[in-house]
Amino acid sequence: MNFLKTLNINAINYGASTGTAWLKTEDNGQFDISTPADGSQIASVYKCSNDDYEKVISTASEAFKSWRTVPAPLRGDIVRQIGNKLRDSKQPLGELVAYEMGKSLQEGLGEVQEMIDICDFAVGLSRQLDGSTLHSERPLHRMYDQYHPLGIVGVISAFNFPVAVWAWNAMISAICGNVTVWKPSEKTPLTAIACQNILKDVLIENDLPEGIFSLVIGDGNVLGEGMLHDKRIPLMSVTGSTAVGRHAGVSVAARFGKSILELGGNNATILTAQADLKIAIPGIVFGAVGTAGQRCTTTRRVIVHESIYTQVKDILVKAYSGLKIGNPLDENNHVGPLIDHQAVAMFSQALEKVQAEGGHLLCGGDVLSGPGFESGCYVKPAIVEAENSFDMVQNETFAPIVYLIKYAGDVHDAIAIQNDVVQGLSSAIFTDNLREAENFLSHWGSDCGIANVNIGTSGAEIGGAFGGEKETGGGRESGSDAWKAYMRRQTNTINYSTELPLAQGIKFDI
Ligand code: NAD
Repeated sequence: MNFLKTLNINAINYGASTGTAWLKTEDNGQFDISTPADGSQIASVYKCSNDDYEKVISTASEAFKSWRTVPAPLRGDIVRQIGNKLRDSKQPLGELVAYEMGKSLQEGLGEVQEMIDICDFAVGLSRQLDGSTLHSERPLHRMYDQYHPLGIVGVISAFNFPVAVWAWNAMISAICGNVTVWKPSEKTPLTAIACQNILKDVLIENDLPEGIFSLVIGDGNVLGEGMLHDKRIPLMSVTGSTAVGRHAGVSVAARFGKSILELGGNNATILTAQADLKIAIPGIVFGAVGTAGQRCTTTRRVIVHESIYTQVKDILVKAYSGLKIGNPLDENNHVGPLIDHQAVAMFSQALEKVQAEGGHLLCGGDVLSGPGFESGCYVKPAIVEAENSFDMVQNETFAPIVYLIKYAGDVHDAIAIQNDVVQGLSSAIFTDNLREAENFLSHWGSDCGIANVNIGTSGAEIGGAFGGEKETGGGRESGSDAWKAYMRRQTNTINYSTELPLAQGIKFDI
């Protein structure tokens, strides 16, 4: 495993860093990390202690005082250099992402490419942190609004995008003038350590202080919980399940902190009678089985018009029979393992439950064993005929199960089914009918943060704002004007007259 050496991952690693320096606590427990690819142990990580955390936060607070004074385009230049280091490390980091998390190598490399892309985006953005100039009602007065950095931004990330989510947050946040403290998922801390090792050289080469990019590794309900309640962190960006995000949102709001919540999805693709199946079917298969169904944007429901239902069902079942399941580092495989045995158990239980509710398993559902599947984390992606109202269909199971749902009537009936879940992340329609597509995109159409036409639900482009509505949390990250969430807004009025016209015409005898 050359990539471990290249990325400076040791047999045992420290769990807290202020940038270039690792804090050397060894007596607070450790995580032993094994790969779902073959079950073998990769490395261990010491957990960050309370003292480490305090050191990280105080160093970050101090670093913010100088980092905020660096002009934004110069902060952008640092991010440009980090992007270049990521370019140099794309292959080994992509391999480690695939090995630790279990997604295919192509997807691992794609995830690192997303990090590079967000760096490029952030560099340009560093010259465009604009506000509006407004006309005042008072003579010889000027008004404008501007955006200032917040301070420490806490990032709590999920296992399924172990590095990209940090980069989306940290790079935009950095050009905005903030410093970041990252707590990655305890299931994927090695990729986080690798990122810290990669950016370290940029910090040294530019003689930057400790505390601009920090890392803390520990349990969500201990270390993560502490961050939620820490008043020194004005913004918490939390990516994870709706259950964790609901708790995070309430906890941060209780101390009047700001939060960006990127939570679970229950994404649907609608196939109307006028869908072009030639593009729809690959869109659905990729969306449903990519990353073994462990993307927040995974296609979980396919809502098909009754006139093409049987045809779509047959083609999908046939397409699934050709899926190659196996080691994620082998580029011939389409589907890698689930993250761990708990995820496999949830997959099997969900299939049992949905069948008890009346669902019909069309294919897949097995847990694979034997040569190549020794980790016990490989499953056969499943297709189930179901009703949207079923309890299991209403919930996100983070595994490759796609529910086929038949609809009658017109596109409004399909949209009503699609919107009838509590989540609101990603949605798609396949149709060659302009009226159907525009209704889907209209304000009475899809209620999701992402709505696509003739392209599936999964994935995202850096340039757009990424996030979802309802129980997906309402946060937006990445492109467009998502940067505004990382800054505080201020309205300024400037009087360049020699008078002080008071509101409501009030005058004092002074
Ligand atoms: P998870 O909710 O189990 O964990 C997410 C993070 O929260 C981890 O870092 C964990 O340590 C931390 N955490 C757990 N308890 C905490 C607490 N009490 N206080 C603070 N932090 C705590 O999620 P997961 O299994 O790692 O990831 C899968 C979920 O994430 C899915 O629901 C998926 O849809 C969602 N997700 C959403 C997006 C999005 O952008 N909307 C992106 C990726 C993943």
